[in-house]
Amino acid sequence: MSLKASGSAPAHKHCPVCGISIAPTKDYCSDACRDMDEEAQRKMKNYRRLTLFLMVGALAVLIALSFILRVHG
Ligand SMILES: [Zn+2]
Repeated sequence: MSLKASGSAPAHKHCPVCGISIAPTKDYCSDACRDMDEEAQRKMKNYRRLTLFLMVGALAVLIALSFILRVHG
């Protein structure tokens, strides 16, 4: 089931959300897909921020813990 024409590849992109062929000037096939992708990116950004926050927090706890242990030891 191959629809690819051998030799000439027409300039086109694929919608990053649903994967259908779109015009090379467009980023998404529809506003709905654009909204979906932007929301996914926003969630990913929030997730990264949360991960960074947790890592910094864990590091701060470790530093505080080693400081406390040094004081008591
Ligand atoms: Zn799409």
